[in-house]
Amino acid sequence: MKVSLKDKVVVITGGGGGIGRATVKALAMEGAKIALCGGNNIEKLAKTADIAKECGADVFVLPGNLTESCFLNSCIEKIVNHFGQIDILINNAGIALNKPFEETTQEELDNIFNINVKVPFILCQKVLPYLRKSGHATIINISSVVGHKGYVNQAAYAASKHALLGFSKSLANEVYTQNIRVHTICPGGVYTDMVKIARPDLTGEDMIKPEEIADIILFLLQNRGNAVIDEICVHRVGKQPFDI
Ligand code: NAD
Repeated sequence: MKVSLKDKVVVITGGGGGIGRATVKALAMEGAKIALCGGNNIEKLAKTADIAKECGADVFVLPGNLTESCFLNSCIEKIVNHFGQIDILINNAGIALNKPFEETTQEELDNIFNINVKVPFILCQKVLPYLRKSGHATIINISSVVGHKGYVNQAAYAASKHALLGFSKSLANEVYTQNIRVHTICPGGVYTDMVKIARPDLTGEDMIKPEEIADIILFLLQNRGNAVIDEICVHRVGKQPFDI
């Protein structure tokens, strides 16, 4: 039986586009209340907020750079002050880097680990006290197939997504007895700005649609029976299983 998401408060990072925006729309249509947590592009965030509002959702927009610790450390409290509760956290914001191993700078390594690992780690820490009060407590971390594999020119990205998957496994083990579920999704190529910028040669024809990842997220959130999904690996239709 499907569990209702009506009035559940969802915090999502990276809601300005791609997987984030598609997920926000899907959640809004189910009646969830949504906090768009972070994002530097105010216009993109505002567009996502408008889409959610058109679906009838209550939306709280919190623009800002999640790698700035002052902003990061204040997000969860601000959202709780606004909505009074948090039920679900979706760590979706992330960046990629396509560079040979030897050319990757320390600054680039720091940047990618900051947003792809440290931000979700801290947000999970901050949100747990509120999730413990929820009957629908869920964390969804968006890793990548690159969290399993090591592709050429993606050492920093691969390391960060392995790290995200790694801490998600530990966290899941630490909180499962408290009725808090931690899911990790590892998608292959999804046709979003991230891919369009890195690979302008791709048309997106056989790539995963952001809406398809949003559907998987919805499935995880609406099916809260005795079968608990730890991790979902998603590959493109024309690619090998467990590949990009
Ligand atoms: P995207 O570029 O559209 O979305 C990334 C989002 O992260 C953007 O909204 C951006 O504003 C936000 N973000 C980045 N740095 C930030 C910061 N410092 N502060 C606040 N927000 C920040 O791309 P997407 O494909 O929708 O990516 C979403 C997630 O999916 C990422 O974690 C990405 O690594 C992961 N992923 C994407 C693919 C793919 O092929 N597109 C595959 C596997 C995993």
